[in-house]
Amino acid sequence: MEPRDLDAIIRFHGHFCPGLAIGIRAAELALREIRPHSADEEVVAIVETDMCPVDAIQFMTGCTFGKGNLIHLDYGKNAFTFIRRSDGKAIRLVALSQSWGDSSAKHRDLLANVEGGQAPPGEQERVAGLPQQRALRILDAPFEALFDIKPVKPHIPQKAYFRDSVRCEACGEMTMEIRIRLMGGRKLCIPCFEASIS
Ligand SMILES: [Zn+2]
Ligand SMILES: [Zn+2]
Repeated sequence: MEPRDLDAIIRFHGHFCPGLAIGIRAAELALREIRPHSADEEVVAIVETDMCPVDAIQFMTGCTFGKGNLIHLDYGKNAFTFIRRSDGKAIRLVALSQSWGDSSAKHRDLLANVEGGQAPPGEQERVAGLPQQRALRILDAPFEALFDIKPVKPHIPQKAYFRDSVRCEACGEMTMEIRIRLMGGRKLCIPCFEASIS
């Protein structure tokens, strides 16, 4: 990965952390195994966390909520499935919890480039246990050391399409019809429905 690309991902996410590094590696594997950057909806990513890794996955694979090809399952797992619609090829990656290998000089230099500075002499050991150092080790590690990687046969979600909206009979706001709840014959949006039953 070019320092410029890493810099762009870090700016998108806001900081460099082990979670972002895991997302970078997951996206690299997806790009290699499933397809290059997705400008269309050909690739679908199913993420089982809504934390740091997902920002790298969105940035690198082009799978986003807005295109409907990023699906969040709220399972609280660092697990990522990538699906190619054309032939159904899919892999699921589960991040392993074990510690990751040593950071190489190459990636230390990379971080120095990105941040415009390096730890002063004598600080190296203290710095070695910091999250950024763990993130650098993740960037260097072989995929098999980071993930349990399995081909899967997932259900392929439908492509995003435009759905009708109707007006909530309580708040008056336009709401996607599939999100409308019925209460005593009234069409309610989810917040109004929940307010009416609490
Ligand atoms: Zn983060
Ligand atoms: Zn409402």
